[in-house]
Amino acid sequence: MFEDLRGKRALVTGAFGGLGSHFAKVLAGAGVQVALAGRRVEAGQQIVAQIKQDRGAACVVPMDVTDAASVADAFDAAESLLGGPVQIVVNNAGIAVTRPAVECDAHDWQSVIDVNLNGAWRVAQTAGQRMIAQREGSILNIASILGLRVAQQVPAYAAAKAGLIHLTQALALEWARHGVRVNALAPGYIETDLNRDFFASEAGQALIRRVPQRRIGQPDDLNGALLLLASDAAAFMTGAVLAIDGGHLVSSL
Ligand code: NAP
Repeated sequence: MFEDLRGKRALVTGAFGGLGSHFAKVLAGAGVQVALAGRRVEAGQQIVAQIKQDRGAACVVPMDVTDAASVADAFDAAESLLGGPVQIVVNNAGIAVTRPAVECDAHDWQSVIDVNLNGAWRVAQTAGQRMIAQREGSILNIASILGLRVAQQVPAYAAAKAGLIHLTQALALEWARHGVRVNALAPGYIETDLNRDFFASEAGQALIRRVPQRRIGQPDDLNGALLLLASDAAAFMTGAVLAIDGGHLVSSL
């Protein structure tokens, strides 16, 4: 399955974090040549070494999604290191600030919007311009169930992810005729190094009891949707938003 992915070229943003490094490894495992983009280049080199140990093909490119020139440079570097234009982009870089709305200051708001929405836009626009020229590409925006429903104390994050979902649909509409597909994943709560302690706590366990499947997700739960949307198996899918959340979005009101 997904044999068409073998030999393709991908760029993953925020690729040195929990989910980004996982996405890069899964794509590499499917035979994709992956450029891991992010700020902590040394951490990235370690992940690339792991991928190469597993016989995958990968490289690191520096990228700060808040800086348009850095985004363009990273795509240039990826094209040159991978030997051709990028055909798959996983737009994954993201940050969260957890604070009641009345206490959010301008920096809290702007930093989240500038990475999660403006940053995703910079990456998607740069990717789209190049993919349209090739008449080929799949962009996968990593949104969140918080872009579809709300929770407390994450107003900027929820607004940015809702914006990213709408941006996904707007770009899908404009670029479908050029052979470029744009889709979104909306993960529910997925266990990573950053939140493992929280989910082991009483508050975390209470949250898990509200998920219809009574568990949080593991990064591997995202693999099927990632590979599907990246590959030609989803050739007729664009503008889709796939929630992967153990039923959290359909929890009882
Ligand atoms: P994470 O481990 O904190 O990873 C986020 C990555 O984004 C980090 O590698 C970080 O790089 C990078 N990043 C932040 N600001 C950046 C910038 N200005 N330029 C380039 N890269 C930047 O978090 P995660 O859980 O893997 O989240 C990955 C994505 O999934 C995010 O978009 C998040 O909103 C989404 N998501 C996560 C969950 C979940 O439960 N984990 C659920 C739904 C959606 P540095 O290390 O250099 O800061």
